[in-house]
Amino acid sequence: MELLYKSTRSDSAPVTASKAILKGLADDGGLFVPERLPKLSCSIEELSKMSYQEVAYEVMKEFLTDFTEEELKNCIARAYDQKFDTAKIAPLREADGAFYLELFHGATIAFKDMALSILPHLMTTAAKKNQIKNEIVILTATSGDTGKAALAGFADVPGTKIIVFYPKNGVSPIQEKQMVTQKGANTHVVGIKGNFDDAQTGVKNIFNDKELAKKMDEAGFQFSSANSINIGRLVPQIVYYVYAYAQLTAEKKVKEGEEVNVVVPTGNFGNILAAYYAKNMGLPIRRLICASNENKVLFDFFQTGVYDRNRDFILTTSPSMDILISSNLERLIYKIAGADANKDVSLMNALVKEGRYEITDEMRAELADFYGNYADEEETAEEIDLLYQKTGYVIDTHTAVASKVYRKYKDQTKDETCTIIASTASPYKFTRSVMNAIDKKYDAMSDFELVDELSKISKTAVPNAIEEIRTAPILHDTVVEKEEMKEAVLHFLKMEA
Ligand SMILES: *Cc1c(COP(=O)(O)O)cnc(C)c1O
Repeated sequence: MELLYKSTRSDSAPVTASKAILKGLADDGGLFVPERLPKLSCSIEELSKMSYQEVAYEVMKEFLTDFTEEELKNCIARAYDQKFDTAKIAPLREADGAFYLELFHGATIAFKDMALSILPHLMTTAAKKNQIKNEIVILTATSGDTGKAALAGFADVPGTKIIVFYPKNGVSPIQEKQMVTQKGANTHVVGIKGNFDDAQTGVKNIFNDKELAKKMDEAGFQFSSANSINIGRLVPQIVYYVYAYAQLTAEKKVKEGEEVNVVVPTGNFGNILAAYYAKNMGLPIRRLICASNENKVLFDFFQTGVYDRNRDFILTTSPSMDILISSNLERLIYKIAGADANKDVSLMNALVKEGRYEITDEMRAELADFYGNYADEEETAEEIDLLYQKTGYVIDTHTAVASKVYRKYKDQTKDETCTIIASTASPYKFTRSVMNAIDKKYDAMSDFELVDELSKISKTAVPNAIEEIRTAPILHDTVVEKEEMKEAVLHFLKMEA
């Protein structure tokens, strides 16, 4: 049965999956959501015998119904290949009574690779299907990890260009080095003097600029997005939850049908929304545990029903979660508002105008599956150290936020349900914060000395993604004011007046 996508902000005609992927954002500024959430069409037992690629096909075919089997399998095969350093693609690691789902085995060692290694293939396939002649210009705001993963995915992909905006002082040194050393004639990396929300708002404004879109079209370009507002990012993220559950049953850690909890270190609400979609597909997930760092808008939201971004933006050691406007929450808001675009629009307008909105009690009741909590900087560091001392396993700062929140959840609820913790980045990406958490003496070392030290204490090999940037030359050094993002785009496209 064909599945179409509609905007969260109006009742305009729904579009096919391939059109939704191409556009990124709907014309009315809303996010595309599937008209219904499909069910898994094969049993967990069948899924437990499948490879990651096979599970990916089973999940994605339910959502991307206008892709042919051949097209979809082709995209999957090209995405989940030797770029990943393990055939499992997303392996589980048991430590201290939980299962860490390692989503960082791709090219840029963060979970963004899970979706961004397939998005360019979905996008170019979608362009072909829709007879698009324009070159596609991917605009991306990044809190550090999306940028590099999108650059790696789209570099030198024919028919595309990619422009990434990152907060100049808001990413880790390794994250920045990864981005500014990116090769590929179609890539452009720009630092902005502002934070991630400024970058994301700037990108959204460029998307919504109708006059610019017209000029672009005349010049043979059209924008799309590699951010998690793109449904082509969200759908591939559902896969690993299904795969993880199937693996747990294959390894007899849970019985088929037995519930599990999922803990997700959350920023833009994309990853946890994917888990929620997986639950809606029929995966037996009990609680969706939303973990925040000190930018705890989501924790407060789950506590009170008020989403309030009027607060200081805190730079933490888990920069990919330093976000006060969680874009993907809009998809959940729309759903719990009973798929009512008018309600969604009034809340989203309130967010823009007053920086806050409040949901009704009726809507809150729909959030019973979610549990929110947060970990502050000290707790995050303590968690890294604790897990390492107890088990020898070294986790990154984002994963540590989730791990600590899980500890709090268990203390509060005494819930002993088998639990999957999404491990969203390799500790090698946030070496300084990770090593400092284990011992302050490390702070005296250089970034790459720390990398070697981490390799020693964790007994893991230094990932290729890190080896590559040790000596790579810096190829991008543009930094602009946050008001100058549009000019930066026009300059790169050689479209200035
Ligand atoms: C992007 C990111 C997150 C947050 O994921 P969302 O989908 O934005 O909630 C968490 N951890 C890491 C390492 C990330 O790169």
